[in-house]
Amino acid sequence: MSATATGGVLLLVEDDEAIGRLVKTYLEQQDGWRVVWLRSGEEAVAELRRHPVRLVVLDIGLPGIDGFEVCRRLRAYSKVPIVMLTARDEEPDRVAGLELGADDYVAKPFSPRELAARIKAILRRVEQRNEDAVLTAHEIVLRRDSMDVTVSGAQIELTSKEFDLLACFLEHPGIVLSREKLLDLVWGMTYPGGTRTVDVHVAQLRRKLGDPDTIRTVRGAGYKLAAQ
Ligand code: CA
Repeated sequence: MSATATGGVLLLVEDDEAIGRLVKTYLEQQDGWRVVWLRSGEEAVAELRRHPVRLVVLDIGLPGIDGFEVCRRLRAYSKVPIVMLTARDEEPDRVAGLELGADDYVAKPFSPRELAARIKAILRRVEQRNEDAVLTAHEIVLRRDSMDVTVSGAQIELTSKEFDLLACFLEHPGIVLSREKLLDLVWGMTYPGGTRTVDVHVAQLRRKLGDPDTIRTVRGAGYKLAAQ
């Protein structure tokens, strides 16, 4: 199986019976997934701790803890790709999910085919990035499997998106990355928040790295990791 072929175990968290059945049936019959379908966030968090899956499709509106909280709890220990299902086509919901570390969202109502296409795009984006387990530059060491980052041997705490952004710079040392390119590589093309999001995250990342010159602003072009 190539890195971006579909298949394997997918966790679907959806309390709506009709939508859940439609998604499960389509993904199993058309795309070769084995779908584990759970109706609550609590069950999903417990299940994922026991059995890792390749991707999670997560509804926001759930009984008990909602999809945002599930996403936050999963991200505390897992980088599994997460697609959120938003009940309304409302920007704040989508931005909130992505800020919590979801990889993409699909707004209801959606067709199963649309969801399947989005899943394929996410797998391409996420799994192709996972090649080097450890990235280093300057005094920075980033470990993907344990999701930790040290600077001069001292551990620093990054959010999920700050981690992905730093990994992206470390993968492209000395190369100028435009805001649009960073948005595509780190957030995915469908991110509704705009390129200002990139500026905000770069500023936070610089502050946490402690050396503002590590990530340089290239006027009118974007950002780059400074040459060593
Ligand atoms: Ca629901």
